[in-house]
Amino acid sequence: MPATLEILCIGDELLIGRTVNTNATWLGNALTEAGAYVSHSVTLADRVTDIHQALQLALSRADVVITTGGLGPTGDDYTVAALAQYAGMPLELHAPTLAHIDQLLRARGRQPNEYSRKMALLPKGATVLPNPAGAAPGLLMHIADKPVIILPGVPHEMKALMQDHVLPWLHRHYALDKVQYHTWHLVAAESELAALLAAQEAGLPEACSLAYNPGLGILDLRLGMRIPAPDAGKQVRFEQIRAEISRIVAPWCYGENGVSLAMALGQALRTQGLQLAVAESCTAGLLANTIAEVSGASAWYVGGALTYSNVLKTQLLGVPPVLFETAGAVSEEVALAMAAGVAGLTGAQVALSTTGIAGPEGGTPDKPVGTVWIGVHTPAGTVARRFLFEKDRRRNMQRAVHAALWMACKALRTADQSS
Ligand code: ATP
Ligand code: MG
Repeated sequence: MPATLEILCIGDELLIGRTVNTNATWLGNALTEAGAYVSHSVTLADRVTDIHQALQLALSRADVVITTGGLGPTGDDYTVAALAQYAGMPLELHAPTLAHIDQLLRARGRQPNEYSRKMALLPKGATVLPNPAGAAPGLLMHIADKPVIILPGVPHEMKALMQDHVLPWLHRHYALDKVQYHTWHLVAAESELAALLAAQEAGLPEACSLAYNPGLGILDLRLGMRIPAPDAGKQVRFEQIRAEISRIVAPWCYGENGVSLAMALGQALRTQGLQLAVAESCTAGLLANTIAEVSGASAWYVGGALTYSNVLKTQLLGVPPVLFETAGAVSEEVALAMAAGVAGLTGAQVALSTTGIAGPEGGTPDKPVGTVWIGVHTPAGTVARRFLFEKDRRRNMQRAVHAALWMACKALRTADQSS
């Protein structure tokens, strides 16, 4: 039997906009990738009557209900009590859970009290799903003959319980659809890509689909295949389609299945035994931060200079002051001098520079807001390119970071091919 699931995200903070409901997106993705159907995802308050209503509706239309949130020890968490009341199951103290909570609190140097004890009051007859990452356990109850899975609201605890208990349980009890995905991370415009892939898209078997998910100057293309459980034995040319698309998108592709631009650049630098440095003006450290988020970056990234003022561009990077007069701080000449300068300063063979008008103020007719020059220095030479982004400061910084990383990836790709 294929499984349809309804997700109930319980929490006042989700409704009033204090917390982004990341549990709904994470669960939607994890359950879909496992081959289940999420039919509804509902957000509701920590209020007993609302929980009862939402549960009644969910039980009337889904095979399995999953709730998150409201398991905590505080007076504003009602999920367990509300569900137990709905199911007519009395609450009783669950000794192993109490022992787990006591031990967890003592290990954190805190004393158990009546509130922590509340988390061990569980519906009699429910299956307890031990929480490897926190105090309140998950629960599996049967209400009106349907499974109801109750998970904590804390995202990393919810995820741990899903991985440890819920996904394996779903696989054991339901015939799930066969699903497969492949994602290409690209620097390309959506419409141009769609035109390039028109023939492939038209010829896709019914079980496959292509989804475009544009970001800031980057774009994810996802090939998905979903074969309904009864036809699970059916063969689809997934690998062949994947290979065809890979060949077409190769010039714009920096990574696949979760590889970021900075990771891709790091991989290229590592392969060629090169070190990277950055000189940032308009991105103000965002480029360095993005690079340093890659685990193991110290193997190929030396650091750089944050030169917001012209004085510092000259003092640290040796940018000739005359360039600010003749070409301006946001110019090809300055981007080139910054990239070459930081390479000289640090000894890195590869360097990136950014100088631009992030906005929203500071634009002129010939250099409007969103104008950014990016320089790339490699052993083959130094080049710079002008971009015209948009009016929003944060988005411009992010776009400049993506553009810079991609320019370096391409420069190293060319170097690799010609060597
Ligand atoms: P705890 O035992 O920590 O109290 P809980 O199951 O009671 O866990 P809540 O108290 O409802 O969960 O929420 C705990 C934390 O998790 C809060 O910071 C809350 O904002 C966050 N949280 C709850 N629900 C979600 C959600 N759907 N998406 C993202 N974060 C959430
Ligand atoms: Mg809550």
